[in-house]
Amino acid sequence: MLENTEFVAVRCPTCGMLDVGPSSICRSCGSNPMGEIRVAGTGRLVSWTVIRRAPTRFKGQAPYVVMVADLDCGLRVTGRWAGEMEALTSGVTVCCVGNQQEIVFFDLAKERQ
Ligand SMILES: [Zn+2]
Repeated sequence: MLENTEFVAVRCPTCGMLDVGPSSICRSCGSNPMGEIRVAGTGRLVSWTVIRRAPTRFKGQAPYVVMVADLDCGLRVTGRWAGEMEALTSGVTVCCVGNQQEIVFFDLAKERQ
């Protein structure tokens, strides 16, 4: 398993709203530019689906799992599952383990000591 990493989000310098980005204008107050911020990449698995018939760009990668997680900072993010299929359980603690070509990968979070 890869090491825990952070998730790069954007935050409005005026109202503080967090967004998954990329975004240059705040959806809440219209301010710009948004500033990059690193947040903890841990959260809870909300949902997932197995992609067996992938779009052309990802054809060679199928089957793969696209999943949704609610990060501890409050952001809901979409990513790719890098862990075992058997580990996919609603509500399980997950963490960001990498980022490749603008795709964020998640796996089971390591147990806290
Ligand atoms: Zn704002």
